[in-house]
Amino acid sequence: KPRLLEVQDLRVEFRTREATANVLNGVGYHVDEGETLAVLGESGSGKSVTAQTVMGILDTPPGFVTGGSIRYRGEELLSAKEERRRELRGENMAMIFQDALSALNPVYTVGFQIAEQFRFRRGMSRKDAMVKAAEMLDMVKIPNAKQRVKEFPHQFSGGMRQRAMIAMSLALDPDLLIADEPTTALDVTVQAQIMDLLDELRRERDMGLILITHDLGVVAEVADRIAVMYAGRVVEESDAESLYKRPAHPYTEGLMESIPRLDQKGEELASIKGLPPNLADIPPGCPFHPRCHRAADECSEKLPELRELRAGRHSACHFAEELISRD
Ligand code: SF4
Ligand code: MG
Repeated sequence: KPRLLEVQDLRVEFRTREATANVLNGVGYHVDEGETLAVLGESGSGKSVTAQTVMGILDTPPGFVTGGSIRYRGEELLSAKEERRRELRGENMAMIFQDALSALNPVYTVGFQIAEQFRFRRGMSRKDAMVKAAEMLDMVKIPNAKQRVKEFPHQFSGGMRQRAMIAMSLALDPDLLIADEPTTALDVTVQAQIMDLLDELRRERDMGLILITHDLGVVAEVADRIAVMYAGRVVEESDAESLYKRPAHPYTEGLMESIPRLDQKGEELASIKGLPPNLADIPPGCPFHPRCHRAADECSEKLPELRELRAGRHSACHFAEELISRD
């Protein structure tokens, strides 16, 4: 499958008068056509900032890209003109967010907001555009689409609003969709429905899908590959099956232990002790070492680079080989 997106050694700083935060410190990942990459990590790990930089919507200032490369179908985006980036947004790549309510404009009907794209970017008449908008709502399985295009965002349930936002993002038929915590605000049943919908749309359209999440459990069924981020780096990247079977990084192990399991109902979830580092003052050596139960002396001295352990498996832990060869 052709490579859709390739991010290499991406570096972003957030500069304020007081400090410079090293938010991305050499992020790399890729997505092929028709593939689902889950990007996993706690908040502050750089998942969203990477996505915003890919989309060209990073707030500058305070954010500054200080290095790296982002290629969409081979085209370098970091040096592309804003006009070109705007053209790519919507037509080629689109992004949806956790909070559909704030992404939708409360004073216009849902149909109007979807139709706008057909009017202004496809030159359709108001009437034809509304017909297309209803088709889009139907595509994301909103019942009674012809009626519901006339309703306002507040008349939709949380799950229906998220569906409407997906419809809006796919209006111009992009082949890369980035979903940033798309189900975090929803209850568990609706979460699963939205994941199924995204998975189905990906398959039908042969889209590349990037699912950003802090919850390994949510993406278990749909991810082909997983990139785990910590302190602005990818610390493990692997096919989903191998990663679930045997994580190659202690941070991933910690995230797996904090997945809610049905057989542990009522019990306190294990969570990784300690807090993510202050990005203006990242610890030397392995940034995870103050929280890592496997840390050895060298961990506070030497930064482990992300390296290939075996085909398709990458880890940035000094002891990754031992982790995956355990029984
Ligand atoms: Fe833990 Fe050391 Fe591996 Fe970092 S390099 S994750 S501190 S064992
Ligand atoms: Mg985020």
